[in-house]
Amino acid sequence: MLMTTREKNGPGYCLVIHGGVGTILQENMSAEKEKAYELSLEAALKAGEEILERKGSALQAVEAALRVMEDSPLFNAGKGSVFTHDGTIEMDASIMDGRTGAAGAVAAVSGIKNPISLALKVLQHSDHVMLMGKGAEQFARMHGCVFETEAYFHTDARYEQLQMAQQQDKVVLDHSGANTVMAGNVENGGRKLGTIGAVARDAAGNLAAATSTGGMTNKRFGRIGDTPLIGAGTYASNQNCAVSCTGHGEYFIKNVVAYDVAALMAYKGWSLQKAADYVINKKLKAQQAEGGLIAIDRWGNYIFTFNTEGMYRGVVEQGKAIETRIYQ
Ligand code: ASP
Repeated sequence: MLMTTREKNGPGYCLVIHGGVGTILQENMSAEKEKAYELSLEAALKAGEEILERKGSALQAVEAALRVMEDSPLFNAGKGSVFTHDGTIEMDASIMDGRTGAAGAVAAVSGIKNPISLALKVLQHSDHVMLMGKGAEQFARMHGCVFETEAYFHTDARYEQLQMAQQQDKVVLDHSGANTVMAGNVENGGRKLGTIGAVARDAAGNLAAATSTGGMTNKRFGRIGDTPLIGAGTYASNQNCAVSCTGHGEYFIKNVVAYDVAALMAYKGWSLQKAADYVINKKLKAQQAEGGLIAIDRWGNYIFTFNTEGMYRGVVEQGKAIETRIYQ
């Protein structure tokens, strides 16, 4: 079998992040807002790279990168999370270690400053994969996770978004902007799905993936999306790839998207690019399901694949400068 350059030489470390996808059009963005996103993406990549440079693991790097994004009000995760129908914040997150196959996830947690770190604690210190709600919060207290007040999680933009969604009796997939409404099937333009995610390959060749979100504005009945579901929103295996998804969660659950990409590589021998293109641009598109993913394979080839106008994204490879992008 012919080997790619990467297979022959062996790549160094690489960290890839996303801050959600959607109808992100340059004409709707101010220069300041663009700059703010760019700086936040850079800060997240720097935090993860610092770990990879010191020969830290891919698992630690994806957690570190997402913590920075969870602390920013710009993304729909942690501090910037969207509101539920009842005006509360319920966050979902998951993380997976491609080296061991270990995974940790939390669903519908409130008050936790960094849900991704709680997911990592579930991976490291429990016999379980997923904890939810009050139980997860109790576990967080036992493991010294930082809690924040309601005021910390309150952002005016998200609150306005909730009020608009409620006036229209809609459920919204977004983290900012006024015209981002969907109900049942996606219907209006202007959608942005602000979930955050990271995938990495460390210098030792180990892979990891992590994803974190506030879910959907005006969500009800304890709705949980794809983000905390291993195989749907997040998946990592050193055998093939690490994947983090963002998009209309219900479709990502039904199509088991993250695992589907890995399975196409494992069982069909497809490249990462071919597998992701098939799942995002063929399967999901045929179902009018909006979204995308970032992924990295065992050789360090990485991709950003999305069927929307834009994706907040960035990458840093060993020995190269940080790169960030927003539009197609
Ligand atoms: N996938 C997330 C969810 O459905 C939303 C997003 O990607 O923004 O909860």
